[in-house]
Amino acid sequence: MCCFTLDRVDLSTVSSNLSHMSTSSPVTSQVVLRGVPVVGGVQCGPVIRPGRLPVVDAPAGDVEESARAAEAARFSTAAAAVANRLRDRAGRATGAASEVLAATATLAQDRAWLGAAEKRIAGGAPAVRAVAEAVDQFVALFTQLGGLMAERVTDLRDIRDRVIAELSGLPEPGVPLPDVPSILCAEDLAPADTAGLDPSLVIGLATTLGGPTSHTAIIARQLGIPCVVAVDGLDDVAAGATVLLDGTTGTLTVDPDPLEAATAVTAAQHAAEQARQWTGPGATADGHTVAVLANVQDGAAARAARQTPAEGVGLFRTELCFLNRDTEPSVAEQAKIYGEVLDAFDGRKVVIRTLDAGSDKPLKFAGHPDEANPALGVRGIRIAEGNPGLLHRQLEAIAAAGAATGNQPWVMAPMIATAAEAKSFADAARTYGLTPGVMIEVPAAALLADKILEHVDFLSIGTNDLAQYTMAADRMSADLATLTDPWQPAVLALVAMAVRAGAAVGKPVGVCGEAAADPLLACVLVGLGVTSLSAASAAIPAVGAKLSQVTLQQCRDAADAVLATATATEARAAALTLLQ
Ligand code: PEP
Ligand code: MG
Repeated sequence: MCCFTLDRVDLSTVSSNLSHMSTSSPVTSQVVLRGVPVVGGVQCGPVIRPGRLPVVDAPAGDVEESARAAEAARFSTAAAAVANRLRDRAGRATGAASEVLAATATLAQDRAWLGAAEKRIAGGAPAVRAVAEAVDQFVALFTQLGGLMAERVTDLRDIRDRVIAELSGLPEPGVPLPDVPSILCAEDLAPADTAGLDPSLVIGLATTLGGPTSHTAIIARQLGIPCVVAVDGLDDVAAGATVLLDGTTGTLTVDPDPLEAATAVTAAQHAAEQARQWTGPGATADGHTVAVLANVQDGAAARAARQTPAEGVGLFRTELCFLNRDTEPSVAEQAKIYGEVLDAFDGRKVVIRTLDAGSDKPLKFAGHPDEANPALGVRGIRIAEGNPGLLHRQLEAIAAAGAATGNQPWVMAPMIATAAEAKSFADAARTYGLTPGVMIEVPAAALLADKILEHVDFLSIGTNDLAQYTMAADRMSADLATLTDPWQPAVLALVAMAVRAGAAVGKPVGVCGEAAADPLLACVLVGLGVTSLSAASAAIPAVGAKLSQVTLQQCRDAADAVLATATATEARAAALTLLQ
């Protein structure tokens, strides 16, 4: 498997500015941080953090002209030493780890950034300064390119730190060897940090940055280390703090109750064994079938999802393909991207969501107004109004992808609030021969689901936004995470309403928010009557395995019990009692 191709990238074409992380006070008491789950499993342990390169001051002023050739040679030797060490480690590693290290070694010897540093040295810059400036230039380039390339920024910074350490006679920066099994937390992890990890000592990984295709994710998958990326607030968790990491739900609890943590770890080990053995399709122990689907954001993620027992794609978040685009992709280009996902799940159900632009996912080409409160502003389907043709061109591309692959997708609109919006979307989708549905993410849509269903063929409940809007709590806020918990009975009451409306007219109602990734809650959702569950690939085996261990009646009893509770804690406890 080769996940990226740094060696084929021309580094000398684009430039942009870097954004910097803000800092705030350390997290000390029990707080639940949320991120993107990548590798399932639960682990508890002390936090370790990778060692940073101490601040190295480049000598003030420029290097004498007569000494510049020697400075350039010193730089070349240091860069070569770093590349050789990485190559040696690649030779000793296997699989993805080996490929990742080899690619970083290649990047360390890439002529473009070496040339940029050499040019600076020839102009008088000391090697340390030249390295820092040249890497900054290419970090900006990669950031601008976005997507997989932006994730390689960590590799560049890692190379920079290693070369500067080499030039300065300092030890190589990296992950310390812990004395006890520990959870490695970092802003992001470089390949050289992760590729050599010992899974018996580094039992969990969490990063502030990174996505499901970052190095951290790739290596964590290979090593089977529970992993959560893009954890909001992680930078404030100090080394030494005890954390409970849940790679299935994507949470990190700081300073957890020791007994609860031990119970969670043991239960997860047992569940993991059963998940490993689950091969699908989704059904309860007594044979009630519920499609277990994957949430994906591009062809690569769809191909990865195809390796799990996922029966199809329940949510393809198309906006994530275009976050770094300045201009709208052509219909043909869009069709190609969508076609990759359809190809990955050839002959199976694929639900493509139209652009959910706005709020935390602005698209440069989608013309967003400046808003004080973007989560309540022009996002999702509301974008279509101010951008004539955008929705139609996307529907045309989706239909073209369906025709080209022979796999006709379903299509759904995000952030529907009224039946009129649902009708307008459904009319447009049908013009292109597509099967239309809408997401239920706004309480108004759940309350009037029966009216919406007069126009569309299916509903898909987005519990992430439904929780945000029901509880009036920002889903990005770690401080409000208990409010945005999908176990909130008010949220589940709205889910129940939408499901009942679907059942009344015999139309499918699925859940594609993170609620479907929680095995226990997934069973409750089935008890409420949802017809499909769609979750991140990493969560699928655990969800399917749990469902296969309980009966439909147990799920229904749990759903009734949960709906009778007043708090998320009571709801969880009620479900645990009935579904264990
Ligand atoms: C949701 O809101 O639950 C959902 C699936 O959409 P997103 O997370 O992309 O907003
Ligand atoms: Mg949403």
